[in-house]
Amino acid sequence: MRRVGIIGYPLGHSVSPAFQQAAFDHHGLDVRFEVWETPPDALGGVVTGLRSPDALGASVTVPHKAAVIPLLDRLSEPAQRVGAVNLIVNRDGLLEGHNTDTAGFLRALREDGEFDPTGKRALLLGAGGAARAVAHVLLEQGVAALTIANRTPERARQLAADLGDGAPVSAVSLEPSDLAVGGGWHLIVNCTTLGLRHSVGEKQSPIPSASIPPGALVCDLVYNPPETPLLREAKRAGARTLGGLPMLIYQGAEAFQLWTGKEAPLTVMFQAARRALHIADDRSS
Ligand code: NAP
Repeated sequence: MRRVGIIGYPLGHSVSPAFQQAAFDHHGLDVRFEVWETPPDALGGVVTGLRSPDALGASVTVPHKAAVIPLLDRLSEPAQRVGAVNLIVNRDGLLEGHNTDTAGFLRALREDGEFDPTGKRALLLGAGGAARAVAHVLLEQGVAALTIANRTPERARQLAADLGDGAPVSAVSLEPSDLAVGGGWHLIVNCTTLGLRHSVGEKQSPIPSASIPPGALVCDLVYNPPETPLLREAKRAGARTLGGLPMLIYQGAEAFQLWTGKEAPLTVMFQAARRALHIADDRSS
């Protein structure tokens, strides 16, 4: 029996155990996916335990994606660039840090959102870890303009500065008056926690329908519930919508491949995640 798990704090909402275990079972692998709820002062001990021969590695989530970096032996190029790790792989006692949120987001955007970001105007809501990964992807893909809007504008300005001089990036607050300026977004991505089930902002949309152009694609990284307040505002505005589940599965599929060397069974993973979230399964591939 080998083990792998998710490291975060708190972890009550995670569906990763359900869809990753389904993938291991599908391949008949003797692996158990565990939930390792890890307060910050316990992070060092949990990561050291991953060097053991029976550990494949771990998924890493809030609040440890940056804090875990100094505890690892090497980083993939995307993890280095973004400054965040959401996946650890144990290679014979050496710990590798990866960022699969980046590729997962881009795949969801292209395949499920049918959206090509090159040359488009994008509005990013939030300036935390997920926003950082999405901002890097959108700039690499050559967006024409990227506006970062955050409740704490200073964090939006810091993220814009970290993205480098000369990048077509601006920073504003989440106030509707700020968001009316400029406008003309082709893509809006919610990287805040607003809308997340069982959170304080569960019933809130980060922006109203009045700030959403009818032709835009609105993408919410929140996957639980599947229809968030923002996605309802987007539909009201006549925009297209994309929920956070495809990104979650694609980043997890890359993790599964790096842990096992086997192809991730995407259909099985989607089905298990939908079951865990009590969503009717209307996806056949
Ligand atoms: P994080 O680093 O903690 O950042 C949280 C962000 O939400 C910050 O910008 C914060 O603004 C904002 N925020 C929190 N409460 C708010 C409120 N009441 N009003 C307005 N803004 C608020 O978290 P993260 O790792 O970036 O994750 C963000 C979201 O993305 C989470 O819901 C997470 O589940 C989701 N996510 C999904 C996937 C996926 O695969 N679908 C992957 C990664 C993340 P301040 O700076 O002002 O505090």
